[in-house]
This record gives sequence, structure tokens and C-alpha cells, in this order.
Amino acid sequence: MVSDEGRRAELAANLQRVRDRIARACAAAGRRPDAVTLTAVTKTYPASDVLLLAGLGVTDVGENKDQDAAGKAAEVRAAGVRLRWHFVGQLQRNKTKSVSAYADVVESVDSLRLVTALDRAAVAVRDRPLDVLVQVSLDGDPHRGGVAGDDLWRVSDAVASSDGLRLGGLMAVAPLGEDPGRAFARLAELAGQLVATHPGATVLSAGMSGDLEAAVQHGATHVRIGTSLLGMRNSLR
Ligand SMILES: *Cc1c(COP(=O)(O)O)cnc(C)c1O
Repeated sequence: MVSDEGRRAELAANLQRVRDRIARACAAAGRRPDAVTLTAVTKTYPASDVLLLAGLGVTDVGENKDQDAAGKAAEVRAAGVRLRWHFVGQLQRNKTKSVSAYADVVESVDSLRLVTALDRAAVAVRDRPLDVLVQVSLDGDPHRGGVAGDDLWRVSDAVASSDGLRLGGLMAVAPLGEDPGRAFARLAELAGQLVATHPGATVLSAGMSGDLEAAVQHGATHVRIGTSLLGMRNSLR
């Protein structure tokens, strides 16, 4: 059992290293360091870690399972701490109401059926629209989530015309077995096409612990960092 103070020091050191990596990547790409928002992916870690990160200045957190995230978000709110909650996991339609109640952004929207369900849920439980990113499949493998081809424009248009949703932009995970820079270059091209038809959809969520530099190079506005901040996740969870 690590003491709270020990854990705080560990998270502070990790956070500094991640912030340094982001700053170096921004400098290398000729971008301002504040052009990239860090989303701390706290999945499998307790609400106490979320609170420590918030105390260290983290503003955005990501979770991938409603059954864990709902309770954590409630615990953090009960402690009087306000954060932006990003839902980044595969979302089942029967969880859309629960997620709509605490999430500020859903980054993993990848089907028309999910758009319809999420819109209905957001209208029912929220007093303002829910930000949505459409998840792009960069390798065309439907098992890993995301949309490919013309479905990207169909899903994006559906989000943009939903009363309860606001189209924020795109999200992607780099494919396995391909240079992430090449994949993120394709993503950047799609993001440019999206903004041409939806000028407000400027968010590009890409880059994780292993590939944040490549993502920043290709225009990511948000990087989603778990392992480098919080440590290796238990593979059983
Ligand atoms: C877990 C997860 C991350 C964080 O990955 P790390 O490699 O631990 O930084 C980012 N995005 C999504 C969608 C995830 O599920």
C-alpha cells in the first residue's frame, strides 16, 4: 500500500515527464505548448488518483468503462472537484443514459445507431449538448472500433444535426503493426476534410503513452495518456 503522499510524488514526477514530452513535441512541430491538452486516462485506477491528478493541475480525465467511471465521477464530484470527463471506450447503447449524465465528451462514437441512442439520452438527462468525437478506424478493422470510408462523413453529419450532441472532431487509436506517424498523417488529412465542412469540429484526439510525439507532429489537440502517468495497468483488469 503506497501512502497518499508517496503516490502524489510519483504522479507529480510522471506528470512532469509527460508535460515535458508534450512540450518538446510541440516545439519540434512548431506548435505552441498550450495547443495540446493532456487527457489523463485513469481507467483501472481509483478516484483517489483522479483527485491527486486534479490537485496537480490535470483538467481532463478519460475512462473507458461506464461501470467504473460512473462511480469515480460521482466520488470526484462529491469531493467538490470539477473535471472534464472523456468517455473513450466502446459504448453500448444501454449505457448511453448513464454516460450522458457525467461525461463532458464521448470520444468513441462510431455508428449511426449509437448517434441516435446517445442523442436521445443526452436530450433526456442533460441541460446542454454533449460533445462528441467520431472515432476513426485507421486500419479498417471493425473489432478495434471506429468508422472508415464514407461512413465517417455519414456519422459526423448525423452528430452535427443532432439536438443533443455537438460535433467536436475526431478521435483515433494508432493501428497495431504500422508506424504511428503514417497512420496519424492519414488522420490529419481526414481532420482537415472534416473541418472544411464542419468548421467547429477542430478537436483531434490522438496519441497515447507510446506515440504521443507522432500525434502532436500531426496536429493532435488532445493526447490520451494512461500508462506513462499512472503506471502499468494490471492486465487482469
Ligand atoms: C487506455 C487508453 C488510452 C491510454 O493508453 P496508454 O497506452 O496507457 O497511454 C488511450 N486511449 C484509449 C482509447 C484507451 O483505451
